[in-house]
Amino acid sequence: MNSIDNKKRRKIGKVILIGCGPGDPELITIRAQRFIHQSAVAIYDHLVDKRILDMLPETAEKIYVGKKKGYYTYSQNQINKILVERARQNKGQIIVRLKGGDPFVFGRGGEEAEFLAEKRVPFELVPGITAGIAAAAYSGIPVTHRQANRVLTFLTCYDDTSTQDTDPIEWDHLPKGTLLFYMGVTNIGFISKQLINHGWDPETPVAVIQWACLPWQRTVTGLLKNISQTVKEQRIRPPGIIVVGSVVNFRSKLNWYETKPLFGVRIIVTSSREQAKGLMLGLEQEGAEVILLPLIKAVNPSSFTDLDQAIKNISQYRYIVFSSQNAVLFFFERFYFLKKDIRDLAGIKLMAVGPRTAQKLNERGLKDFFVPGEYGKEGVLRFFLKMTKHQGRVLLPRAEMARDTFYYDLKAAGWKVTMVPVYKTLKISFDGKNILERLKMTPRLTYVTFSSGSAVEAFRQGFSHKIFKDIKKMVKFVSIGSDTSAIARKLKIDIEAEAREHSGDGILKTILAISKNPS
Ligand code: SAH
Repeated sequence: MNSIDNKKRRKIGKVILIGCGPGDPELITIRAQRFIHQSAVAIYDHLVDKRILDMLPETAEKIYVGKKKGYYTYSQNQINKILVERARQNKGQIIVRLKGGDPFVFGRGGEEAEFLAEKRVPFELVPGITAGIAAAAYSGIPVTHRQANRVLTFLTCYDDTSTQDTDPIEWDHLPKGTLLFYMGVTNIGFISKQLINHGWDPETPVAVIQWACLPWQRTVTGLLKNISQTVKEQRIRPPGIIVVGSVVNFRSKLNWYETKPLFGVRIIVTSSREQAKGLMLGLEQEGAEVILLPLIKAVNPSSFTDLDQAIKNISQYRYIVFSSQNAVLFFFERFYFLKKDIRDLAGIKLMAVGPRTAQKLNERGLKDFFVPGEYGKEGVLRFFLKMTKHQGRVLLPRAEMARDTFYYDLKAAGWKVTMVPVYKTLKISFDGKNILERLKMTPRLTYVTFSSGSAVEAFRQGFSHKIFKDIKKMVKFVSIGSDTSAIARKLKIDIEAEAREHSGDGILKTILAISKNPS
């Protein structure tokens, strides 16, 4: 690449121009991801998705240089200077320049690379999936098809004040095939007029795709002669890609993305960040827009006395019932802190109420334990109730102030049960007004999921009485199980549906069952 010797490389950072793809964070390359993880500085644009920024190391300096109305805009010159400056300040480090789509497709990546080369700053390039290709793909349009075209043209057209002398597009010479216009949405009237005036059939199919590859993607289709009107009526705004050509017709058969079961559905997940992961991924795979609103977090219990006592005398227990992932996490953290060994659990029967809790035991190398399938705590209870002879003590590590009846039912059945708090959940406050505004801005079918009673309470507490009335009209509530639903009912929250399996997967299945694709 550039002829800079190794010695120089070590004295200066290296800039990586990275194409981050069109939005969906899964559409970046492995190479891009590796550099992002290694970076000391990130300089990013407006169209780089927040979830990609979340992949940056916490320690990385993050510099926003994008354009957004009302904000200060960096000139290209200033951006170039920042790149060079940061490379010089960060010897031997990686500086990532994050751009939407591909850096070299209408992204000024070429100009930035040129500047770096001139200043003898080492750089590399990571191509990205460009928005034009991605938008077409996600709206079910093959940009080439043997029955339709052999030519594909990428264009940008954002200035309808261009006179014939300065207009960079040679409208007369555009090859008849597929056209992909970038930055053209607000200018679609001019574009379609120009094409028709220069010999394109007014009946040529056109698609305009806004926010491609994101759950709020919108596609409108029409013909050259009327697309401008449709875009206006449907209020399609930038960022958008315009696809012109008969390939657009394939959409009626190939529209795979906007027909996903939860496409167009918004889901507010209120579990803690770690617990929400599996559910979020599942919902997103089904096409849903997920908003993570973590309302609870688990922290150490107020006192370790009871837990420490139980761990010291662990051999006196015959059963340990783990009723949540957190119970496993916090129990074992303390267990090892007290210098215990996994072999101290030999002979004790371990139980997990659900598959996620079981997975956490698995991750700790524990393989042999009881999971009650889809019945959750009910299933564990049945296991104990079935045994007529009470064989030994049961340890129940759990959340401080947990309120379910399992402990009492077990005791009532004659078992010796020790309940010890291993963690406590704290509620995280949030601004309910913001949520309401967001829901009002883009109204659509919205579910709120609750994975615990504390989450229900924290959600309710985030809203004033008046705002909550509005919220209730705009969303439907889904609960993970009967205990959580009971707390919701107490707070006058109607639960639309309750998961059969006490897990994120159970919630996902429930939402799939009750939603119909609204698009
Ligand atoms: N380098 C980028 C393009 C930057 S120009 C790339 O290769 O994709 C910015 C234009 O890209 C926007 O005006 C819009 O036309 C298009 N664009 C970027 N992201 C988009 C998205 N998610 N959906 C639709 N169009 C998008």
